[in-house]
Amino acid sequence: MVLVKRFFSFFMPGGFLFLVVAAFICFDFKARWLTDVVQVYPYLVVGVGLLLGWRFNRSRLFFAIIMLVAVDRALWLSETAPPDVVSFVTNAAALLLPLNFVVLSLIHERGIINLRGWWRLFLIIMQPLVLVFLYKTRPEVVVWLNIEFLPLPLPDFIPLSQASFSAVFVSSIFLVGQWIRTRDPLINGFIWALVSAFFALTMTGSGMLTTFIFSTSGLILVVSVLESAYGMAFRDELTGLPSRRALNEHFLKLPGSYSIAMLDIDFFKKFNDRYGHDVGDQVLKMVASHIARVSGGGKSFRYGGEEFTVSFPGKGIDEVLPCLEKLRQNIESSGFAVRGHGRAKGRKDNRAKGNMQAGGEKQVSVTISIGVAERNGNYNTPDHVVKAADQALYRAKSNGRNQVAV
Ligand code: GH3
Ligand code: MG
Ligand code: MG
Repeated sequence: MVLVKRFFSFFMPGGFLFLVVAAFICFDFKARWLTDVVQVYPYLVVGVGLLLGWRFNRSRLFFAIIMLVAVDRALWLSETAPPDVVSFVTNAAALLLPLNFVVLSLIHERGIINLRGWWRLFLIIMQPLVLVFLYKTRPEVVVWLNIEFLPLPLPDFIPLSQASFSAVFVSSIFLVGQWIRTRDPLINGFIWALVSAFFALTMTGSGMLTTFIFSTSGLILVVSVLESAYGMAFRDELTGLPSRRALNEHFLKLPGSYSIAMLDIDFFKKFNDRYGHDVGDQVLKMVASHIARVSGGGKSFRYGGEEFTVSFPGKGIDEVLPCLEKLRQNIESSGFAVRGHGRAKGRKDNRAKGNMQAGGEKQVSVTISIGVAERNGNYNTPDHVVKAADQALYRAKSNGRNQVAV
């Protein structure tokens, strides 16, 4: 199940867009609609991409769109040139585009209209100019680009040199690694935009078709930026859980029966005071990762601060109590390692205590209290049920914490 979810998040939306376009092309290669679509599609994608990049300060989208336009126009300009020129342009594009995407995946968002932005733009524009210069003055670069350093010949449908193909291949793997590490939707966009651009490069000389596929690369990037904007609005940045805003939307979709649990970390303020806010944030992440995996079909949200909500659509209290009890126990037994030197060392409290271990690390036990309520005659809206769960949480706290109360 987790694997299916992971694959889905890797595949959507870029992979899906790519497959749709690839299927269109395979089934209807020389379609008449292409002529009409190409009149509008590239301009729309480039316009929207540049505008979004500029307005929302997404310089990486802005630069990537410029790169795609540059590659597409270079191929278009060289279309009627001798085959060795076409091959040089294709190989150079296949070498530089992926490497530039890798660089974009590594740099921080620093805006477009400032010194750094101009400098980055300059570096992008210089690349094709340097290539043209090299091609004119030192023709041996063409030879370097075509060096066969692997004993494996590429299949005929890949009109690239080994160096260029390796750049695409290695960069794709690197980008997948970056995506797994960061889960940044734009990096996912780079991966699928690169797949699509590679597809376009294997079709050089197909005129409008190449432009059509490059535009799809641009579209994938635009959609991935929209995806990340959505993520920012509906996901909590620290814990990765859906946010309060997502919870409010979720409430509108609840069925006739449901249970809602409110969860709160015990003595968290003391924890922060003792070990510092950064360690507090790590604890929040750890607790959130447990809550996200709650059983019984529960959907988890960060309600705010160190409070969380788990909603169980279609479930009554009796069904969800064992799941919540298990969650409470999991968190209690997981422990958390902190460095021995806290901010307010020596202060005593009951929960944030631990045993000093070798290497100056301390195992601290973190606990949570949970209050749960279900929809019934008395509480018939999600807000009412949340209030009832909050009162139950209060009871759990006053009865000694680290427990589930109804
Ligand atoms: P109780 O057991 O009664 O819940 O005690 P408590 O100390 O957990 O409760 P209280 O509500 O008084 O304190 C909550 C603290 O959570 C206050 C604030 O310092 C901390 N907190 C809220 N949000 C964050 C956050 O995002 N990061 C960190 N590090 N601390 C946070
Ligand atoms: Mg609280
Ligand atoms: Mg608390």
